[in-house]
Amino acid sequence: QRVLLIDRRPHVGGNAYDCHDAAGVLIHPYGPHIFHTNSARVLEYLSRFTAWRPYEHRVRAQVRTAQGRPAQLPVPINRTTVNVFFGLNLSEPEVGGFLASQAQPVQPVRTSADVVLGAVGPALYRTFFQGYTQKQWGLDPSELDKSVTARVPTRITDDDRYFLDEHQVMPAEGYTRMFGRMLDHSNITVRLLCDYDDVDPATYRSLIYTGPVDAYFGYRYGRLPYRSLRFEHATICQAQVQDVAVINYPDPAVPHTRITEFKHLTGQGHPQTSLCTEYPAAEGDPYYPIPRPENAALYRKYQALADATPDVTFVGRLATYKYYNMDQVVAQALATYDRLMAP
Ligand code: UDP
Repeated sequence: QRVLLIDRRPHVGGNAYDCHDAAGVLIHPYGPHIFHTNSARVLEYLSRFTAWRPYEHRVRAQVRTAQGRPAQLPVPINRTTVNVFFGLNLSEPEVGGFLASQAQPVQPVRTSADVVLGAVGPALYRTFFQGYTQKQWGLDPSELDKSVTARVPTRITDDDRYFLDEHQVMPAEGYTRMFGRMLDHSNITVRLLCDYDDVDPATYRSLIYTGPVDAYFGYRYGRLPYRSLRFEHATICQAQVQDVAVINYPDPAVPHTRITEFKHLTGQGHPQTSLCTEYPAAEGDPYYPIPRPENAALYRKYQALADATPDVTFVGRLATYKYYNMDQVVAQALATYDRLMAP
């Protein structure tokens, strides 16, 4: 096939685009993108375009313990989190029993509050999840599907890795280089600073659309809610600032949700370091679909329109209104390719 790839932005790669900032530090302008997958097919496919560096992601939350002392504790909640937060010294089985004694399980588990209250009880829920979620989504966890906080499970072990996937690696030279190799083919033309509807439909047979699905259909049934972010980037004249790549700030009195120090992710050696602070926002570029029943119902109406538009294929987070990780988007794209190419 001959392919014209268009993007309204001045670069390829969407929000996974990375680049060097003015100081020469490799950053993710649209916030931290950390690759992890259990899919051998996804890893093999991407490995055609990049080498990898091993990277296991770790996150700490800046909180006050039950005794009111400031501390940076592991997220997901694990044995260390529980012991330091409550000033205890419990073994793994004891942590399991202690959390069970705190937990407030409900049946059925429906919301993001149900998930966390059912696993760790109200004290850890309020400190680690309620404020963060309220800031991130503009909603209380009780107003969000269970799938949102279920992304961050609870552990009784000391394992403080954010992800447990079999493959935890970052593209050795960054995402943009990987995309560059993917697009380096004589049948592929890239046109930037161009909107999909700037291209005359008479010049192509089929369209793969990755923008917001409601925008494609002219917001016919009203707007699908998306959550946005504002990123504040800064470079600091010291080699390292944080112990780990990401510090979360669940405190509702702090306006941002998290700060990322990119050199942890990229492994870059550099005398300076660059940080990105995330401020959630209602307005701005769409970054997250908002998982809750009324939004899913509205999406289903757009999905019916999409299904009735066979010469346009909708893929990705925005076009299928799914809170997908990068590997899930790649898997969706590969499955879509299989379907399109089937005889
Ligand atoms: N979350 C939270 N506190 C945390 C980390 C996560 O409340 O310290 C909740 C919050 O609602 C967040 C969701 O869990 O949006 C999913 O977290 P994840 O880190 O997967 O979000 P992403 O990296 O996709 O923004």
